[in-house]
Amino acid sequence: MTDRPDHPKQPDHEVAIIGGGFSGIGAAILLDRAGFDDYLMIEEGDGVGGAWHWNTYPGVAVDIPSFSYQFSFEQMTDWSRVYAPGEELKAYAEHCVDKYDVRRRTRLGTRVVSAEFDDDGELWRLGTAGGEQITARHVVVATGVLTQPKKPEIEGIGDFAGAVMHTARWDHDVDLRGKRVAIIGTGASAVQTIPSIAPEVAHLTVFQRTPIWCLPKLDAPLPLPARLAMRVPGARRATRLVSQTFVELTFPIAAHFHDLLPVAGVGERIGHGHLRRAVKDPEVRAKLTPSYALGCKRPSFSNDYLQTFNRSDVHLETTPIERVTPTGVVTTDGVEHDVDVLILATGFKVFEKGNMPAFGVAGTGGADLEDWWGRHRFQAYQGVSVPGFPNFFAILGPYGYNGSSYFNLIETQMAHIVRCLKQARRVGATRVEVTPEANTRYFERMLGRRRHQVFFQPSCSTANSYYFDANGDVPFRASPTLETMWTSSRFDLDDYAFASRSVTTA
Ligand code: NAP
Repeated sequence: MTDRPDHPKQPDHEVAIIGGGFSGIGAAILLDRAGFDDYLMIEEGDGVGGAWHWNTYPGVAVDIPSFSYQFSFEQMTDWSRVYAPGEELKAYAEHCVDKYDVRRRTRLGTRVVSAEFDDDGELWRLGTAGGEQITARHVVVATGVLTQPKKPEIEGIGDFAGAVMHTARWDHDVDLRGKRVAIIGTGASAVQTIPSIAPEVAHLTVFQRTPIWCLPKLDAPLPLPARLAMRVPGARRATRLVSQTFVELTFPIAAHFHDLLPVAGVGERIGHGHLRRAVKDPEVRAKLTPSYALGCKRPSFSNDYLQTFNRSDVHLETTPIERVTPTGVVTTDGVEHDVDVLILATGFKVFEKGNMPAFGVAGTGGADLEDWWGRHRFQAYQGVSVPGFPNFFAILGPYGYNGSSYFNLIETQMAHIVRCLKQARRVGATRVEVTPEANTRYFERMLGRRRHQVFFQPSCSTANSYYFDANGDVPFRASPTLETMWTSSRFDLDDYAFASRSVTTA
């Protein structure tokens, strides 16, 4: 089609979805269902599944019950366990892209390095690492946040002579059997890796900086009869309802209504009891006891992590690391721990520059998204859209995620996005932009709810939690899930301006 100067240019696609994890897959399916079938899902990796594509470390598994950790419209009855292992999540992602015909509209191995809004054309120009340009009227950013492995800045780490690997980039060619292994970090990835590798290595040293709250995991295999029972009418729905209630109570309610409901206090008592029963040595137990309140940072769930520290071939080291040498790790007390393999369970970039998203985003008039957030703090209307960045929608923007199952987030945010796109179609608009007033109103509402949240109590200052950004904000959506669902499908459409060269509303 020929572009006319008085008309928006025709982009390659109506929607570009950046990211091929569950956010991108969910976005693709839900756009298609709403009649937006001209989309392209762009993924940097050589496979779909996001976190479940990249994270293949031993023991990787979901830590939200599988009955909740799946799309509401594509519920499986054949999970092998209550908490499915990573490979089943990866297979589920593959299943979804095939069943919903997403694969044909997917570009793998394509890294987006820039996104620029073309004010004249009212479209986005995406630059790829390969030097290509892809244009789209609308962009859905589905890049997640826990995607960029963070390597610790420890002196000498580059000189280590043995194998070094980050949990999110596990090298399956490294044979750990009979090796002296060290692991740095005790977050959720380490909690799963440590008990899985301890039985096969010669010796394991765990370098802990901040202990993690570890709660019992209500996990169990789901044998065939249990899976068949899930097919009985109503059984699957009832199981999901129980699971959703459990997830809702253990995170969104516990975190955002901390001062109203003592869920975190109950959780702490359960955590202390779990630790007491699991670890025999009182000194080790003391080292594993968090000094901050449950909820300041993400807790873990495991039935074998704490018990691993009873093994004579596992050593918990809490003296800070000073440096790494070619043959080991030296702590500040001068002790050198000899090591053959170094595992970095040191997490990811989260609410920081270069990760929200990982590529530069230039909105209307060339405004840079990171600069905008730098000046205004992280904020986005319902976690989806930012004034000055038209036709640009995020699944996991600031104040979007309330902490329940990630799949709730995807479906909720897509309800919001689809509503915007449908309205744009209805009024013939090629430009959709949240108003500054609506954005500010939402941001202030979120900040106003802070006083109820678990995050802003004094003990959180010792938690080293990635929930906090550089301003000390915690950009989670302070809402129960039912409220997020309600507001995403009922927000006032006048909160957006819908416009085109020839049409303007709001
Ligand atoms: P993480 O929670 O950020 O943990 C990183 C760990 O590395 C922390 O213990 C941290 O100590 C330590 N660390 C970082 N830099 C260090 C340094 N220079 N020296 C010493 N220690 C250092 O990362 P993660 O375990 O990969 O988990 C990230 C998130 O991914 C989780 O919170 C969860 O949301 C998700 N996840 C989910 C699952 C699941 O669903 N099953 C599994 C894995 C991960 P400090 O605490 O002192 O900073």
